Amino acid sequence: MTTHNPLPSLGLCPVCQREIRVRKAGTLYAHHCDGDGREPAACLEPTFARWLHAQAARRDAHENRVTYLAQAAFHRCTRSPNRTPADVTWTTAEELHGRRHLIQLARTGSDVLVPYNGERCDWRCRDIAHASEVYDRLVAAREPS
Ligand SMILES: [Zn+2]
Ligand SMILES: [Zn+2]
Repeated sequence: MTTHNPLPSLGLCPVCQREIRVRKAGTLYAHHCDGDGREPAACLEPTFARWLHAQAARRDAHENRVTYLAQAAFHRCTRSPNRTPADVTWTTAEELHGRRHLIQLARTGSDVLVPYNGERCDWRCRDIAHASEVYDRLVAAREPS
């Protein structure tokens, strides 16, 4: 059975300004920076992009559609560093989905992703919709703080 990462608890490091995981005690995890162990400058909303990025670290991409999508969105096939949520132009699942069609439109003059049968959306659009449902469930189940 596939499982999914919980919503990430992230804070903005006051020193390097990167998005770093926050311990239960409220301090930043070590990330090789003077900000290690300090209180975050701000707590960051666990957006769809941030949650998906946390999911990308998993090793179950061969059997988990959400992990597969996450790695496609954030990992690069070359030696260049992987993207982070701060590097991408989308925050929500709708924006990630819309972006696929915009790229296709720029490339081919049409936003249809499956030209041979004229379907606008393909399997990866459906994976985005699936990930969006998982995320929405996690948000709905979140305890009010
Ligand atoms: Zn830092
Ligand atoms: Zn689509």
